[in-house]
Amino acid sequence: MTPLEFDARHLWHPYTNVLEPGPMHLITGADGVWLTAEDGTQMIDAMSSWWCAVHGHRHPAIIAAMQAQLDQMPHVMFGGLTHSPAIELGRQLIRLLPNGLDRIFYSDSGSVAIEVALKMAVQYQMAQGHKGRTQFATIRGGYHGDTWKAMSVCDPVNGMHGMFAGALSVQHFLPRPNIAFDQEWSEDGDLNGLNALEQLLEAKADQIAGLILEPVVQGAGGMYFYHPTWLKRAHEMCKAHDVLVIFDEIATGFGRTGRLFALHHADVVPDLLCLGKALTGGHITLAATVTTEPVARRIGESEAGVMMHGPTYMANPLACAAGAASLEQLSVRDWRSEVADIAAQMTQELAPARDFPGVADVRVLGAIGVIEMEGWVDPSVAHGLALETGVWLRPFARNIYCMPPYIISPDELSRVTSAMVSLVRGMS
Ligand SMILES: *Cc1c(COP(=O)(O)O)cnc(C)c1O
Repeated sequence: MTPLEFDARHLWHPYTNVLEPGPMHLITGADGVWLTAEDGTQMIDAMSSWWCAVHGHRHPAIIAAMQAQLDQMPHVMFGGLTHSPAIELGRQLIRLLPNGLDRIFYSDSGSVAIEVALKMAVQYQMAQGHKGRTQFATIRGGYHGDTWKAMSVCDPVNGMHGMFAGALSVQHFLPRPNIAFDQEWSEDGDLNGLNALEQLLEAKADQIAGLILEPVVQGAGGMYFYHPTWLKRAHEMCKAHDVLVIFDEIATGFGRTGRLFALHHADVVPDLLCLGKALTGGHITLAATVTTEPVARRIGESEAGVMMHGPTYMANPLACAAGAASLEQLSVRDWRSEVADIAAQMTQELAPARDFPGVADVRVLGAIGVIEMEGWVDPSVAHGLALETGVWLRPFARNIYCMPPYIISPDELSRVTSAMVSLVRGMS
């Protein structure tokens, strides 16, 4: 069996039919924006390997930090023990996050960070004497991960609710905020959709622990950009009902939307914030759930006292060292202008796609460029073309999109946008 035959016969891939996995590339190297395939062919990682590699692959400073950490101590348990990578990463996170978010819980992946946030919210409500508050509210079109509780707050139609109906907790779904990011805001509650939240809170706040949202950008649920003022108003309503606000910035964090965190567009400080993906610049898995002093204190003072969660590899030193080095890059490099330049170039170069038949919308926010089609896009077409175009794209649902590393050069970005546009041309 060749390596690719072994892979096809024995290894599961994400969201892929085990019997018909489709085209598969054997990757032997990753450096900067480039991926190298087995035969030496190179392609640009226009996905930043699922939103993670914001500084490019194998960033020298991150690799150096990881190598030094490997020599010293790749891992040690976090129960009763601590270490400087966790502390240094914590210091950097608190420096970058808005005032108030300063109690950090490390975990291994985004989905786990969501589980931790949801659990913290329920423990907080129990401590408040609200024992009935065990459910969550969210908006349609969301994606929060693949573990059970995270799945229960994913979009009920595009998510996995159909298949796992009956196995998922019942949650409360509100309409997707229907005022887009660049539309004019309206305070009309029927129009902006906030009346639905108000009604839900008035009727059922005594069952709801928190409202969970991806602020501004709904990623895997449809690449939709909505108005930041919606978050501001929703936050005010939740405060009035002691419903916690949870922001899932696993995809949007660390500059992707043009602001350091998407919450900066709305100037809202949530009660809980989930981080992951780009936290280590795409070098190794790590996530974090960050909360405020009042929430942490309430849980600490409660009857249970302890937060009932603790992953085996919590605060893995190697991952924390990568995280600290990656955040350091955000202070030493001018990521803001990198992202602004990417946005400007994508806006210009993706615009021609608007005129092709079958295109529903073209939109750009920060270093996220989306061509939304009217119909479903078959990802295997893009996969099959990748070596030819030299651009790695993985469309999903109706979206052909890219979110390149911030270090991408204008020439490289032009290759990405033209690969996207020619994919659309090929489909029309
Ligand atoms: C990717 C993602 C998750 C899940 O993170 P994993 O590391 O894949 O578990 C959760 N929320 C959002 C918004 C994401 O984009």
